[in-house]
Amino acid sequence: MTQIKFLIRPCLQKGESLSSFIQRTAEMNGIHPYDIWRLFRYADKNPQVDYSHQINSFPINIFNLQKFANSIGVEPCEMEATTFMPVIRKYTTNELVLSSSLRFLNGMLSNYLKFCPACLRSNPYYRLIWQIAELKCCHEHKKAFIEKCPGCGKKIPVLRANSIVGLCPWCGSNLCNSLETAFQIDDQQNRIFEDWDYLLSCDNPQITVINGSFDEGQFLAIKLLYIMSGSNDNLSFNKLHPCDLNKTRVDTLIQIARDSCTKQKNIHLSTVLTTLRSVRISLIDFTKITPPEAFINSLLDKSQTMSKQYSCRAPWCTSYNKPGSLQRTGTSTKRRSDGTHLNYFLYCACCGIEYAIVHGTGHLVERGYFIQLAWGKVKQLSTPGTSISEIAILANSTNDKVLRCVIFLYANGLISKPTNIQVPDKPDLATLYQYFNCSAKEVWQQLHLSYNEHLFYSFLPETRLLKLRNLQKNRLSDAENEELLSRLKDAIKLLSKNNEPISLKSVCKALNMHPKTLKARGFYHYITEARQEQRENLLLQKSVDLKQSADTVVKELENNDIKVTNSLVYELLGVNRTSVNRTMPEVIEHITGTVKCAKIRQKPIYKSK
Ligand SMILES: [Zn+2]
Ligand SMILES: [Zn+2]
Ligand SMILES: [Zn+2]
Repeated sequence: MTQIKFLIRPCLQKGESLSSFIQRTAEMNGIHPYDIWRLFRYADKNPQVDYSHQINSFPINIFNLQKFANSIGVEPCEMEATTFMPVIRKYTTNELVLSSSLRFLNGMLSNYLKFCPACLRSNPYYRLIWQIAELKCCHEHKKAFIEKCPGCGKKIPVLRANSIVGLCPWCGSNLCNSLETAFQIDDQQNRIFEDWDYLLSCDNPQITVINGSFDEGQFLAIKLLYIMSGSNDNLSFNKLHPCDLNKTRVDTLIQIARDSCTKQKNIHLSTVLTTLRSVRISLIDFTKITPPEAFINSLLDKSQTMSKQYSCRAPWCTSYNKPGSLQRTGTSTKRRSDGTHLNYFLYCACCGIEYAIVHGTGHLVERGYFIQLAWGKVKQLSTPGTSISEIAILANSTNDKVLRCVIFLYANGLISKPTNIQVPDKPDLATLYQYFNCSAKEVWQQLHLSYNEHLFYSFLPETRLLKLRNLQKNRLSDAENEELLSRLKDAIKLLSKNNEPISLKSVCKALNMHPKTLKARGFYHYITEARQEQRENLLLQKSVDLKQSADTVVKELENNDIKVTNSLVYELLGVNRTSVNRTMPEVIEHITGTVKCAKIRQKPIYKSK
């Protein structure tokens, strides 16, 4: 490709955007802006109004900035300053990260032209800084930015095929003629202006650095968390100030800092700005902060107990965001349908909401949908007169889930009694007691409760907490298991010695323990075996006794010269032959043999008579 040289080369203005410079170059050379775009496009990426805003924000995928700079006689770094590339370079030098850099700025830039008519009148070109979405006014003229054409009222694309600076590409109206409104510049707008002034200047230091073994993103996360912890040497999750960030963003920062993300995660520019603004630290001061070694060590120390690290996420809970209420129930690994693994199970001892930790990320997630769906959506949608199915449509969920959510909210005192479904006024104590002592399913069936009633009782915080506490109790250490087992064996021995029947009921009574607890710990079989043994011993004893009694009976009959027969012996023993044969066939055998012998002995006597 031959080197293109423009005959007329306009001067690049201070703070001018690339789209503005392309428009002015095109106009001076008698061509259209899209002719220039097409000349310097990448591969088959033809000019399109849909992504024309990318020309200013992140042109490297669609427009060859370097070649354009050469052909127009502008220094490459000056050319880059017509775009938001200097902002991205403040963020990363890593080419790989750079290729996905649009994400850092997602939502922060306006996709349409915003402008100050006074600026346009004094010097007709578009300023790059106008593209910043959160910036609402011109700092020089103290006027609100205009976002629509004064003639046709349409939004103006960043670059159209026939765009000319200062004119509406739709109706040709002069943008300078827009109605201006004064803007009272407050601290917030001042801070926004300062931040972007810093970010857009090529000379300012990068906000991220590579430090030791930490890459740019990781170290940026560490620094932000350091600021959130109040710049203390020791990171305390208890005292982590969220700095206007939501929990998800804080969690992401912790994951990035610990390098425990399952997939590449980036820190959005708004996370950095929000954090710094909330604690009033300027970007330049931020670049000078280096967290002390002690802080980094405490942050990366994963040995901190889970309960100290995490806190309840249920906004209605008295322990909301206060660490210390979460209890562990188990550590087995479960696979979720999305392929991730959960390997830590916790619940809040205050509200009973259950959580799990996503393996490898340290991310705490709710097990269920009461925070997300019930509190987050259904609570707002559940107004008098709105049916379950209407809520389900609005909440994009199923009828059953929404019904469960409504009953959960009511059972937990988060909404007043629903009018659209049948639910108990308040828990009936007898029923509640049943739910405390037996499995929910058993009670539901035995008491013939309706589905709604069953949900109501199951979702009461007391019921859920009791269930969870039992789960937790069942998780015993080896030593505790050993101790319990020896107590169990002692109890069995004592019952056996006293000839008291061994059963689950009698053993639990002796140990003062709920049968379910014993079953859950896998100790039930000790009782079954002991009971079996006791039965066999009893039977053996009975069999010996019976044989002895039979011998005595036969001897008595012989002594009294009474004819010995099987039926007479059984009659005198007071037992049923068939039932004895079932449990103690050896007794029958013994009696048959004894009677036979007696008959032989008695034969001559009866013959002689
Ligand atoms: Zn202005
Ligand atoms: Zn117009
Ligand atoms: Zn809670």
